[in-house]
Amino acid sequence: MKPPRDAAVAASSRWTDPDGYRSPAGSVHAWLRGTNQTVCGIPLSRAGLMRFPHIQWADVQPATGRDADRVQEVCPRCAAGMGARRDERPWRRVNPRP
Ligand SMILES: [Zn+2]
Repeated sequence: MKPPRDAAVAASSRWTDPDGYRSPAGSVHAWLRGTNQTVCGIPLSRAGLMRFPHIQWADVQPATGRDADRVQEVCPRCAAGMGARRDERPWRRVNPRP
């Protein structure tokens, strides 16, 4: 089965970035536009998740995404559903040494 290509994002929280865009924060899930639940099966309204139709799933991946500044947790089940590689290590925020 192929992972969906064009997933957007649902998140537990939001913030406004310095450019004035509404961006996801907190825990993020993959979400397919036009559906009422996340890729891992959580109903958006019941879980209080906010939709970000203008944000791509790839953009909230902390290792690579440009909209991941306030992302604290990427749902592992959504990541698996979106085709994350099994050999990738779980991501942690690490403070670089001075
Ligand atoms: Zn999820």
